[in-house]
Formats: sequence, structure tokens, C-alpha cells
Amino acid sequence: MDHFWMPFTANRAFKAAPRIIERAEGMWLYSDDGRKILDATGGLWCVNAGHGRQKIADAIAQQAMKLDYSSPFNLGHDIGFEFAERLVKYTPENLNRVFFTNSGSEAVESALKIALAYQNARGKKGKYRFIGREKAYHGVNFGGISVGGLTYNRKGFGPLLPVDHLPHTLDLKRNAFSKGLPEQGIERADELENLLQFHDPDSIAAVIVEPVSGAGGVILPPIGYLKKLRELCTKHDVLLIFDEVITGWGRLGASFASNRFEVEPDMITSAKGITNGTVPLGAVFVRDEICDTVINAGAEGAIEFFHGYTYSAHPIACAAGLATMDIYDEEGLLERASGEIGDYWQSSLHSLNGEPGIVDVRNYGLIGAVQFAAPDGSLVGSKIMQRCYEKGMSVRAVGDIIAFSPPLTIEKAHIDQIVETLSSIAREMFA
Ligand code: PMP
Repeated sequence: MDHFWMPFTANRAFKAAPRIIERAEGMWLYSDDGRKILDATGGLWCVNAGHGRQKIADAIAQQAMKLDYSSPFNLGHDIGFEFAERLVKYTPENLNRVFFTNSGSEAVESALKIALAYQNARGKKGKYRFIGREKAYHGVNFGGISVGGLTYNRKGFGPLLPVDHLPHTLDLKRNAFSKGLPEQGIERADELENLLQFHDPDSIAAVIVEPVSGAGGVILPPIGYLKKLRELCTKHDVLLIFDEVITGWGRLGASFASNRFEVEPDMITSAKGITNGTVPLGAVFVRDEICDTVINAGAEGAIEFFHGYTYSAHPIACAAGLATMDIYDEEGLLERASGEIGDYWQSSLHSLNGEPGIVDVRNYGLIGAVQFAAPDGSLVGSKIMQRCYEKGMSVRAVGDIIAFSPPLTIEKAHIDQIVETLSSIAREMFA
């Protein structure tokens, strides 16, 4: 199989494919064969403040000696509350409750269960269906693959949760861009009204979307699309969940896409950049009233929301997260993508338009994608990813799309290297 993932790490046979990274610092990865590689995908869309941050390492070490673990069920710890209180300073106004998980997949799973528990607690048991989107990635657990829209992720695992999928909004022929967002395609939001009417809104618990689809190929929402989804969900008493596992923590030039696009969902799922990728942690940010309703559910037959993980709000992860937030604030990283460096990124990336084999370039803030099409129609994404590595750059291929989410600490010289590397590969392979 043509990927570099080690599913069973005890089996060294898998070492044939992957590259072993021994050390990382700032924007750079260092391999076991002595190579220096530019990390243009911030690990796996998670290392937003760059690698090897002393402040985070110190916080982890100190917390490990002070309190390494305390059960979140029958005991507790102050740092969990401290971190939650800090986090909600960055969330939209009415999302002030935090449910901690260990990963993005668990955050999605938890959000879906909270949605059902909420509808149930309000006596709306008939609201049990979900609506997701084509090409969406929401992790690998059963809830996530049900609402997710990537065929390879869900095929063969049925029966899954009852879900319908909105069409994705990428149309290479029609998308014109304005300030990074497509000017056309808003009418695709109307499909939500159709789906709601088809099933009856009283049967729908929640709609879940990534504000900008990441792992599905960096698909941007048309201007006004997310606002329209919000309007329709409010009108039909359906919850709206934004999966911000990638789009959170400065990727789009604000703490969350919700803030950048000024659309307040009912829940936000988060992970990755929440600890700068150092230790596993995820979270669901929940609108206050939803949390109160679920917790106080007294109705007969209401779901008792027994849900939590051994490592929910793990003290060491919370310490890492607090140090990460300090860095984001001290260095102004959450806004960096909407400033000068974001503009430079956008114009540099778009200068690749017209290079041989390149059919589309997309970005919003410091996320980006370059889409290739080989003249013979063959899939070339993983070959280009391979070539990038040989030329000293780590990227992520999704089909024929090369995706970028560099650390927000990126400088112009790194951007130049990314663009030059891709341009030289395009010429070498397709000119
Ligand atoms: N949601 C989105 C939008 C993601 O991009 C990802 C991971 N790429 C996940 C959920 C799952 O996160 P994790 O891999 O931490 O389970």
C-alpha cells in the first residue's frame, strides 16, 4: 500500500515504507538518514506553533512531577478547570462549556452523542438523524465515518448511523475566488432545506460540517454558505456542529473559523493545535444551554449522559495546552494568517496557477491546496508527495491534491521554498 503510516508499530516490516523522523525544531524535521525537511503540513495539521517549543516541554515535565493523573470521574484537578476556563476565552460567545476527549475522532463522537442526548432531554426523541457533507472527514470512529463523506473511510462498515450528505461545494469550473472564498456555489446550501424537508426537520438532530474541509482536499465554503446553514438550522430547530479540528487555533487567521466567518454553531469540535500536537487532547465546546439541558435531564426515559474517558482532561495534556495558549497569545499566532504573512502565502501559492499539470490553487489563511491533473488521467498525488520529500519538503497528498497547513510561525523564505519546490516538480513531471 502506498502510504507511510505504521498501523502496527511492533511490526518493523512496515519500516520499509515510512521515513523515520528523529528530531524536529521550528519548521524543520530531521530524518534518521541525515536529511533536513521543511514541514509544510505542520505534522498532520497540528503543529501550529512550530516544533520543539521549550515552554510546552517544561510545562509537561513540571505537571508530570506535580500531578501526573487524577480520575476525572470521582476526583478532579484544578488544572482541568483552569484549562477549560482559558479555552472558552477563544470560543464564540455562547459556547462556554468544555467536554474533554483524547482526539478529534472522540470529539466528533462526543458531539454527536451530546446532540442526541440534548434532543432526547427536550422530549424530541424523534430527532435522531444527522446531516453531514460529501468529502468531509470527521475521524475514524463509527459516528465520524457515518457523518463523514469520504467513501474509502466508510465503505463496508455499515449499517452506520442514519445520515444524509450535503453536496460538497467544490466545482472547479464554476468557482471564482474573492479574498480566498468562492464567489459562486452558495445555492448548494439550499440542498439543506431540501434534505430537511425530505426527512422532516423533526427527525434531524444535527448538521455537522467542517467550515473548510481539510482532509477531503481543502474545500472552501462559498461566501455566505455557512451563514445560510446557520439560518436554516435555527429555522428548523436543528443543531449545527462545526468540526474545527483543523480550522481551529489560528489556521484561518482567528482562534476559530466560527469567529473568522462570524457564524456561531451550537458545538465546536477541536483537537490537534489545542496542544500544538505535543500530547493527545481533544475537546467539544458546547453552547451553555445544551450542556445544562443534558446534565439536568430529568424527563422520564431521558438519556443519562454517562460519557467520558479515563484520560478526559488529562493533567499533562492540560498543562501542554495552557502553555500552547500562552505561546499563541504571546506571539500573536492566532491572527497571523489574516495578516501580512497570510497575504504573502496567498499570493505566492496562487502564483502556481498556470504551471504545467496544475488545475487549481485554493487557500484560506494558512491552509492551502494545489490540485494536479496528469494529462493521462493517472493519479499523481502520492508521486508528487514523494518527490517533495526527496526535495526536502513534507506535504500531504489527498488524491491529486497536495495539501498544506504549515506552522503559523512560517516566514517568507519558507513560503518561497514551498512554491519553488512545487513549481520545479510541476515542470519536471508535466512540461
Ligand atoms: N475531524 C477533522 C476535521 C479532522 O481533520 C480530523 C483529523 N485529521 C479528525 C476529525 C480526527 O482527529 P483525530 O485523528 O485526532 O482522531
